[in-house]
Amino acid sequence: MAKRIRTWCTLVICIGMAGAVSAEARKGDSRHKQSTLEAGAAQTKITPPIGAPMSGYYYERASTGIHDDLYAHALVFAKGGDKMAIVTCDLIGMDADMVARVRTIIAQSTDIPGTHVMVSCTHTHTGPTIPRGTKRDKSKSQAGKILAQYLDTLPGLIAQSVQRANDDLAPARLSMAVGHEDSISFNRRFHMTDGTVGWNPGKLNPKIIRPAGPIDPAVAVVYVESDEGTPLATYVNFANHLDTVGGLEYSADYPYTLYSLLGKVHGDDMVTLFAQGCSGNINHLDVTRPTRQKGHGEAARIGAVLTGEVLRVCTRLGPVDGSSLGTRRKVVQLPLPDVSPEEVAHARKIAATYNTPEAAPFMELVNAFKVIGVHERQGKPLEAEVQVLALGDDLALVGLPGEIFVEIGLAIKQASPFETTIVTELANGSVGYVPDRKAYAEGNYEPVSARCAPGSGELLVETSLRLLRELKKI
Ligand SMILES: [Zn+2]
Repeated sequence: MAKRIRTWCTLVICIGMAGAVSAEARKGDSRHKQSTLEAGAAQTKITPPIGAPMSGYYYERASTGIHDDLYAHALVFAKGGDKMAIVTCDLIGMDADMVARVRTIIAQSTDIPGTHVMVSCTHTHTGPTIPRGTKRDKSKSQAGKILAQYLDTLPGLIAQSVQRANDDLAPARLSMAVGHEDSISFNRRFHMTDGTVGWNPGKLNPKIIRPAGPIDPAVAVVYVESDEGTPLATYVNFANHLDTVGGLEYSADYPYTLYSLLGKVHGDDMVTLFAQGCSGNINHLDVTRPTRQKGHGEAARIGAVLTGEVLRVCTRLGPVDGSSLGTRRKVVQLPLPDVSPEEVAHARKIAATYNTPEAAPFMELVNAFKVIGVHERQGKPLEAEVQVLALGDDLALVGLPGEIFVEIGLAIKQASPFETTIVTELANGSVGYVPDRKAYAEGNYEPVSARCAPGSGELLVETSLRLLRELKKI
């Protein structure tokens, strides 16, 4: 397994800024089916008003300030009349309904089809709560009202980043490389001495035997520069859960350091995109070290180590074949776990203790919310969009909608017919955790929380590979 992991290093992409050519002139160019690849990059601020509830935990907490602003970072490619857009948002995640609204605005205001847009979230825990579906309208608290107003504007703000990147399209060069960083991410599930599989078992826990799964140390970097050599964008994909900062101030977490440091190197006009790799069971906690790993200092350390590998990788970038753009997507139906009427009745009793002094243990609450959530679907399967974007014949980007186990991302990368395949989680929606089949048998937090049944992760692998083969025309 260690050998296999070695082959998957961190991928980074950088993009150069537009030169002196005006946006209007560039738009004119794009009307003649471009013979060369064009790219544009832009970002828009999406920081919510102070006082909105923050994401990431099982209780409501209103924000009190801003440590660093949150952004939607966009990259648009155009070639021969085809276009595609990649947007990464400093948000915990968003459901398919919100993604659909973003895509509709983009499709109405640009010539980019909504289905050619990949919208993903970095999974920062220090952004706003993004409720799912009907829960959105329920909160009557002051924080809830602030959030509701913000959520009405959010799809438009995200779409604006793509509109501006599209306006800035200019001939560009694309290069990439994949680095390797294995010191800042950890599998958070462990085989324990009592025969169970533990989840975040705590630092220096003497019952830990070894991690129950791998990490993905690949640092994928795609660098985009203008024809004149001006940096336009750097796209980085790495698998490591974002919950380092904590507190009540908005922050993009460790990618903030990545954005800042790459800005110092390449200029603040360059846009950095951070795409979260498959990290459903990966986080930043090193259980072999007693050091507390929380706060902005720790986030800066992780961000700086990641940036170091990105910059190392940038010294050995190879050209990307930009001769064509390809897109494929398929919405698959993920099976639901079985829940009996007895389980639902019991789950309702357990859920009623939530936020009371008699609250049931955490894992029982997690299971109760899952059982109720599954029951409320009345047998309707979860819909999950699998999307693949291909740049030429060598580079493919896969988007999956959930917190996806690292094994699933690795399986796609290993069997992909493309030389380099990047897999991004929390893309185009979120169905919650998607463990691999092995983890369901082992139990604990993620498989207990998952709204989809065993086999769902393998279905995402199978679908991704089918779309990749279609785009590769094999
Ligand atoms: Zn999380």
